[in-house]
Amino acid sequence: MKNTPRGIACFMRKSLACGGVLAYNRGMNAVNYDAVMQKMIAAAPPGRRLLLHSCCAPCSSYCLEQLHEAFRVTVYYFNPNLDSEEEYLRRKGEQIRLLRETGWADILDCDHAPETFAEISRGRETMREGGERCLLCYRLRLSHTARAARKGGYDLFATTLTVSPLKNAAKLNEIGYALQEEYGVAYLPSDFKKRGGYLRSVELSRRYGLYRQNYCGCVFSKAEMLVRGSDG
Ligand code: SF4
Repeated sequence: MKNTPRGIACFMRKSLACGGVLAYNRGMNAVNYDAVMQKMIAAAPPGRRLLLHSCCAPCSSYCLEQLHEAFRVTVYYFNPNLDSEEEYLRRKGEQIRLLRETGWADILDCDHAPETFAEISRGRETMREGGERCLLCYRLRLSHTARAARKGGYDLFATTLTVSPLKNAAKLNEIGYALQEEYGVAYLPSDFKKRGGYLRSVELSRRYGLYRQNYCGCVFSKAEMLVRGSDG
């Protein structure tokens, strides 16, 4: 199907309708975002273009395995939260290698732009992982993705962040839906950790020999990991 403005508007309407049901359900039961995603995948006409924000190659492996047959996927590697240029380049290099080896998506590259993360984390340095700093970090990365999706004429945008058991999928999806309204691009909700998604990402990481970092990404999460002395 051609990527016409009418086609996109139709897809958006369906997605917004889904969001409406979600808003109603939110007050009653926890939403199964994985089930919502599966329905949207099943209803997607062939050839839709999805801009997928990826935090790293290991997390993206399972997400791409799930999505690459339903959409024409482009990975958007925007992660200004990473604590050093070295770490940024290492994770990005692994992302590029995974895509080269699998052919599951192409990539829209970005600069590191650590100043954008410094701005949102100022005054929030001592917050624990999962707190307000993280919600702003999610929003920063998703808002850039939504903006790039609009600029590039993509049909949808999404994120790999929900595959992590340490990330709040409900909050991520709330942010995604708000950005859908703001930027006029359909958001594909997810909870990739459901149905064994996280374990599958570990398996795929092993298969492709991917570097799996032991901290989320920012300098604060690295410090927390060092204090814990674990594989956080
Ligand atoms: S812990 Fe992770 S999600 Fe939270 S601010 Fe740091 S990099 Fe972002």
